[in-house]
Amino acid sequence: MTNDYQRTGPRRVGQVKEVTSLSNPIIKDIKALTNKKDREESGAFMAEGLKLVIDALELGWSIRTLVYAKAAKGKPLVEQVAAKTIAHGGLVLEVSEKVLSSITRRDNPQMVVGIFEQRWKKLEDLSPGANETLVALDRVRDPGNLGTIIRTADAAGASAVLLVGECTDPFSLETVRATMGSVFAIPVVKCSAEEFLGWQKRAGGQVVATHLAGAVDYRTVDYAKKATILLMGNEQSGLPDNLAKAADRTVRIPQQGRADSLNLAVATAVMLFESRRHLLSLDDK
Ligand code: SAM
Repeated sequence: MTNDYQRTGPRRVGQVKEVTSLSNPIIKDIKALTNKKDREESGAFMAEGLKLVIDALELGWSIRTLVYAKAAKGKPLVEQVAAKTIAHGGLVLEVSEKVLSSITRRDNPQMVVGIFEQRWKKLEDLSPGANETLVALDRVRDPGNLGTIIRTADAAGASAVLLVGECTDPFSLETVRATMGSVFAIPVVKCSAEEFLGWQKRAGGQVVATHLAGAVDYRTVDYAKKATILLMGNEQSGLPDNLAKAADRTVRIPQQGRADSLNLAVATAVMLFESRRHLLSLDDK
């Protein structure tokens, strides 16, 4: 059933409200954001930590609600984000540590939590130019893997992460935590395998698929000639044939030792930094 928060966003716009009760209906609605269904219905998600909230606001994300611990009251940066939240028509809640722990499901919660509107980029709005790298993930299941990949894609200078088929939610608490804030910096797209296949033909870049049966060493591909879409397979089953066949190159990362394969996030990191090696320099930061 849709609740008031989901229908209208916060009810008491532009006010600071003190909350100490776990049964407060606004707190219940925020806690419901740990469920995928509630996130989908409300189009909102939770991000923990003052730095993340500041970064998100700077990047123009819409904040619905700011929650901070009583102990954080009066801290200049917290006051600033509270003022910004109110200026944008959001709600500010000053809560007990008990309430904050119950929202974040942590014993030592961050002092600040932001509830933001989700943002999805549309596949048809992506037309990567040369020097751009996109990561396409086939049915990624593990929230920690997805968060780590979004963070790594951000660090390597990739332009977007595409979620192909039934994937874990990039806006779950666990994934957002693992992104360490990069969820606010990297556009995320979701599409079916068919939509991806149609788009990649039109988009014109090279699709480099990674596969344990790949015959090409990943270090021998010319990544500089055009935009590159790195296609990564599902954690359990790898890439299905229909996706693997559509790739321009099917590459493998050579391995030694007993491990059958690399972890998906690790393999993606290896591919990202190799494919963007010519574009990355210590002078960048
Ligand atoms: N059992 C799966 C299989 O047979 O493909 C293993 C999947 S692996 C854990 C997850 C994904 O990481 C793969 O689909 C591939 O995209 C990538 N990957 C892992 N190790 C790789 C390697 N040595 N070379 C190329 N890709 C690799």
